[in-house]
Amino acid sequence: MTSQNSHCNSEALKKGNWVKLICGASNQDLSSIADLCSVYGAAGVHCIDLAADEAVINTARNAMDWVFETHGKKPWLMVSLSDGEDAHFRKAWFNPDLCPSNCSRPCQNICPAKAIANKGGINSKKCYGCGRCIDRCPLGIIQEKDRRLTLKDFAPLLKTIKPDAVEVHTAPGRAKEFENTIKEITKAKLQLKRLSVSCGLQSHGINYEQFAEELWMRHKFLRMHNQKPLWQLDGRRMSGDLGAGTAKIAVRLWKKIRPIAPPGPLQLAGGTNETTITYIPNISGPEGIAFGGMARKIIQPWLIEAEKKQISLREWPEGWEAALSAAKKLINPWLIRKSL
Ligand code: SF4
Ligand code: SF4
Repeated sequence: MTSQNSHCNSEALKKGNWVKLICGASNQDLSSIADLCSVYGAAGVHCIDLAADEAVINTARNAMDWVFETHGKKPWLMVSLSDGEDAHFRKAWFNPDLCPSNCSRPCQNICPAKAIANKGGINSKKCYGCGRCIDRCPLGIIQEKDRRLTLKDFAPLLKTIKPDAVEVHTAPGRAKEFENTIKEITKAKLQLKRLSVSCGLQSHGINYEQFAEELWMRHKFLRMHNQKPLWQLDGRRMSGDLGAGTAKIAVRLWKKIRPIAPPGPLQLAGGTNETTITYIPNISGPEGIAFGGMARKIIQPWLIEAEKKQISLREWPEGWEAALSAAKKLINPWLIRKSL
């Protein structure tokens, strides 16, 4: 069996075939993390992006070790941090005692992660902070809770976790905070394969040129600290909807930014789905793509069934094959595309 090693992952970034699974910076549902990592690792993603949490990383690592032993594939393990407030690091919360007994629970119906059951509040292990439930509550009692680590936690945690790559979620106007975050990350003295910068334009009231300037500032800090960049363009953060509209937003951002972006591979995220590739020109394109909500959504029926059976997908051959086939259908067009 040939193994997909670190070199292959780097090559994919050069060739434009790179695919990342976003498990979710807020996602701490260990059973679904194990299944997502197993299925998408076996399907051939090059990187798995996870919450910076030891329990999450240990679970993911076990699943990724299994993928290497059984399928010879070794995606990079990336952890996500934030240099400020960020939707990716939030969870929703409400006090169920405040809910009227006759509420039809629209919050439950809209939740893509099944984090809200027939009774009670939100299961924080399943909530990945998409925010869709918040506006659905007629009483407005659902709140966001930030669960970011503090700056001083970064280096000790990274020393323990030893990821292959780190992603910093940033936003326009946070250059100073970004620099401080990079300084803390470098204190861990890790040889990172990439330091990814995740940034979106929406809701910041700036144009494409100003957005590119923000990326250039971050490029300067990465160079100062000898880190190799990877730029993640967030079309629409935590979009949840995942329709054709969100796919177009992600591609439009890339098309505008590509000519004025700093050096380094670009990957699309935020609203990416199975239609995204149809909006990409044949010859040139972004070096990669990251799938989050859609990756989870398309294997959700088998994740739920496995949970009901109280087993992992790996222990259920029919469920495993069906989920793996769905995952391959999503990512294969990117793995085989000719680009650059
Ligand atoms: S809808 Fe989104 S934010 Fe609300 S509970 Fe579900 S996953 Fe969490
Ligand atoms: S919609 Fe609001 S009131 Fe109704 S169950 Fe959800 S949180 Fe409670």
